[in-house]
Amino acid sequence: MNEKNIYIVRCGEVALKGMNKPYFEKKLADRVRNSLADLGLAGSRTPKDEDGQKKGVEVKRHQGLIYVRSPKDIPEDEIIRRVSKVFGVASVSPAVEAESDLDMIGEEAVKFMNGLIEKKGIKTFKVYAKRADKNFPVESPDIARIIGAKVLIGCKVLKVDVHDPDCKLFVDLREDETYIYDQKIDGMGGLPLGTNGKGLVLFSGGIDSPVAAWMMAKRGMVIEAMHFHSYPYTSDRAKEKVERLCGIVASYAGRVKMHIVNLLPVQEEIVKNCPEEETTILVRRFMMRIAEKIAVRNKCMMLITGEDLGQVASQTAEALVVTDACVSMPVLRPLIGMDKIEIMDKAKEIGTYETSIEPYEDCCTVFLPKHPTTKPRLDRIEESESRLDVEKLVADAVASEEIVEIEP
Ligand code: ATP
Ligand code: MG
Repeated sequence: MNEKNIYIVRCGEVALKGMNKPYFEKKLADRVRNSLADLGLAGSRTPKDEDGQKKGVEVKRHQGLIYVRSPKDIPEDEIIRRVSKVFGVASVSPAVEAESDLDMIGEEAVKFMNGLIEKKGIKTFKVYAKRADKNFPVESPDIARIIGAKVLIGCKVLKVDVHDPDCKLFVDLREDETYIYDQKIDGMGGLPLGTNGKGLVLFSGGIDSPVAAWMMAKRGMVIEAMHFHSYPYTSDRAKEKVERLCGIVASYAGRVKMHIVNLLPVQEEIVKNCPEEETTILVRRFMMRIAEKIAVRNKCMMLITGEDLGQVASQTAEALVVTDACVSMPVLRPLIGMDKIEIMDKAKEIGTYETSIEPYEDCCTVFLPKHPTTKPRLDRIEESESRLDVEKLVADAVASEEIVEIEP
């Protein structure tokens, strides 16, 4: 036992999914496995050595939990960092394993606690025992008492403190094995990627859209990204920044297919033919139309934006209504009710903020009107668009699409 490091991975909301539970759990185990793949996985056909161990990292599902077993030379931090980033994981506990027998559990618990005394200098503890195997003849409070007594004998420096212990020693007794651990490290929560369709995120280089992408991926949606630039008004470095930003999102959401379109021809037509104060809303409607076409082609069911009610002129209630009127695909705006500060905090938490605030141009700032309409009227906007060859502009833009695969 314990030739490998063991981690108990708890499924979050996945556990609530009733009849679909096995499906969600399998998806989650697949995602956990993916997140560890480059460390070298043991497959079902990997032969076992004389200790009954397979080479490489093993990920198995059992009775609603996922167990990861990894070779000792892979640092614990590395496994935890990766697994806790997988959407759908509620928590992770590095654990040791013992045969479900009180003497064996006691022996492992003493070893485990001696390790903690050395590593963390703990002085007090309390045992929390749970008996998942109801056929086991001893009940949970008695297991806690018996193991507590064994630890006191085996670790002379420790005392029991039931109110505020330095260490909570969890003893999780299951049918085949018992798991011993002291930490539950929070995961991301959410649902496993790939359980909720695919959406196309309108992805700028700003603070908001990466957060919006992350939030939808967290709910299990696979994402692709759509980015508009206005080269040569926007630089290659601006584009490179967007790709880097998308890479950070990909570290949670897996590889992201990014569609890139130069919006300049559209913008120039608008500026030439339409009232200046309508530029922003007109540009946005073109973005949506182009994105919708690309979404359909790539089997994305929805568009996603980082818009947030009232943040800027193009995000007033009226502007959002006029923006949506040109597409038939649902438009998700996961940030709609958040304050900018909350969005910024989220961006910091997921690690996109520092990249987002790098000062590069965005296509939206290229032909910024001095006084954009904040309450656009659909009939007026449609009247302005009647001066443009909308279909051709959209078709040309779609045809010029460039694709970059963004790796995590
Ligand atoms: P962000 O921080 O995401 O850029 P923002 O507050 O700057 O948002 P806007 O510039 O009005 O707001 O953009 C609103 C939304 O429109 C963005 O969240 C994004 O979804 C989309 N968008 C804006 N610019 C682009 C772009 N260059 N390419 C693709 N989508 C864009
Ligand atoms: Mg922006």
